[in-house]
Amino acid sequence: MKKLFDFCCEVEFYLKIGITCTIVQQIFYWLLPDIKLNFITQVLLYWIVGSVSFYSLGLLIEKVIKKNDTLTDKLTARVKQVKKQPFPSFTAKGIIIGEIKSLIAALIILYLAPEVHRGNSLLLNLGWFLMRIIAFDFGFYVTHWLFHRKSLLKIHLKHHEFSDTSSFVAGHKSLTEYIIVTIVECLPIFIFGYDITQLCAWTIIGNAYNLEGHSSLSIFFIPADFHDLHHTCFKGNYGINGFWDRVFNTLNPPTKKPGIMFAVNLIESHLNKWLQKNKN
Ligand SMILES: [Zn+2]
Ligand SMILES: [Zn+2]
Repeated sequence: MKKLFDFCCEVEFYLKIGITCTIVQQIFYWLLPDIKLNFITQVLLYWIVGSVSFYSLGLLIEKVIKKNDTLTDKLTARVKQVKKQPFPSFTAKGIIIGEIKSLIAALIILYLAPEVHRGNSLLLNLGWFLMRIIAFDFGFYVTHWLFHRKSLLKIHLKHHEFSDTSSFVAGHKSLTEYIIVTIVECLPIFIFGYDITQLCAWTIIGNAYNLEGHSSLSIFFIPADFHDLHHTCFKGNYGINGFWDRVFNTLNPPTKKPGIMFAVNLIESHLNKWLQKNKN
């Protein structure tokens, strides 16, 4: 029974990514109906959407949600406590370098990938996003697992400078790691082409679950202390969520956080309570 709930929990994560990406894609499609954007406008749009969503969502978590003690207590997923660490402060130099990096990445990705127009069919978009998140989760699992091998660890150590996590640790990685992970993430669009409305939706939702995953809170996408455990234990939980770790037996079992946004965990916890009550 537990295995079935674990599986449903992972499916729930993929579905949330697929559905929210589809909704955001529809908004972009509505905002840009049949407008042919030239290459430079597309690059700028993709870059700005990525950067604005990264900083605004990160600040929302760190400066609004975490400033509210009741809300933080309610949403905290981290069970294994760690010593509080100071986080990297934002410097103008750091922000500028980060922005140049993402602008160059946007330029290269859109230059190399062929443009396609996928329209706004709900089902086709949902299918595309589901395929992308499951494929990226697998690709990320493999790359991340490789980063933890002795010979490649150097690339990944910068990301592990923090065991106490803050949302912005999501973007704290070496240039080599950034390039490799971006290539893995973009493989499907190099093969199947990009649709700018899908790309913008993907980047916003990608930032959202990545920032949440590092925030030590369970807000909407991440129903456990899954990635916190990776940072504290330095092994296991190499995926974005538990699916591939369970397949390849590298799962460090996370503590599930039932909540209104995490239906599967909520049902499981109610069922367990009910079973316990009936046993006694
Ligand atoms: Zn790692
Ligand atoms: Zn991390």
